[in-house]
Amino acid sequence: MGMKEERAVFASSSQNARVMTEDWAKRSLFCPNCSNNSLRPFAANKPVADLFCEACAEEFELKSQARPFGRKVVDGAHRTMIERITAANNPSLILIHYAKETASISKVILVPKFHFSLSAIEKRKPLADTARRAGWVGCNILLDRIPAAGKIPIVTDSLFVPTHSVREKWQRTAFLNSADINARGWLLATIKCVEQTTGPEFHLSQIYDREPQLSAEFPNNRNIRAKLRQQLQVMRDRGMLQFLGNGRYRKTVTFFS
Ligand SMILES: [Zn+2]
Repeated sequence: MGMKEERAVFASSSQNARVMTEDWAKRSLFCPNCSNNSLRPFAANKPVADLFCEACAEEFELKSQARPFGRKVVDGAHRTMIERITAANNPSLILIHYAKETASISKVILVPKFHFSLSAIEKRKPLADTARRAGWVGCNILLDRIPAAGKIPIVTDSLFVPTHSVREKWQRTAFLNSADINARGWLLATIKCVEQTTGPEFHLSQIYDREPQLSAEFPNNRNIRAKLRQQLQVMRDRGMLQFLGNGRYRKTVTFFS
C-alpha cells in the first residue's frame, strides 16, 4: 500500500460515504510514526479516535467530506477537544476529501497531533434554547492556523504520496511533541510566519510584519516581538534555521520544502 502512482479508490459496495471512506482508510492507511503498514479500527463506541497503530499506539481520527477542506473543519464538543489536545494520547487528524461520483479519494491530509495548539481551536456559539441539545458548545479546527509542515499530504489528486515521504515529514517536526501545549502554540505560529516568507533567507523585520496576525491569535500577549525572537532561537536549536547575523536567517531546506 501507499506506492507511488497507485490510485486511491473505494472498493466497497456501500452507498454510505462515511462507511466507504472508513473502509478505505482501514485498508489503505499506514502508521506515519513507525514502520507498521496498517492501522486498526477502534471499537465503534470510542469517542474521539477511529484508528490506531498496534505497534506504537498512535491514534488517528478520520474526517471525511465530499467538498474540499477550507480554512475550518467542524469538530465535536469544544470541551472534549481542549481536554484532548492537552492529553498525551491526543489523536492525529486525517482529513479525507472524496468524490462520490468517481468512487475515488481526491485528497488526504494528515495533521500530526503535535501540530495542534489551543489557538487553532475555535469555540462555536452555544446551540439555541430551541435546539435538541440546547447550550451544547461545539468547535472548529482552524486549518489556517496550522503550519504547512503540519499538513502532510497522503493522497494528492487521487494518487498516493510515497509512504517514506509521509513518514519523513512526520519525523521532521516530531520534536514538537515534547513541547508543552502553551509553548507549542507560539512555536507553531512562528514556524508559520517563517513559512510565509519567500526565498531561502529572511530578515527579522519580515517576521515582525506578522504582528497584527499574531495579536489576533494571542490577544493576551503584550510582548510579541520578544516571543518571536525566543521561538526563532528554538527553531535554530532544532536545526530548522541558521542565524546569519544582523537579523538575517537562513531556512534549512529539509524543513521548508
Ligand atoms: Zn505506529
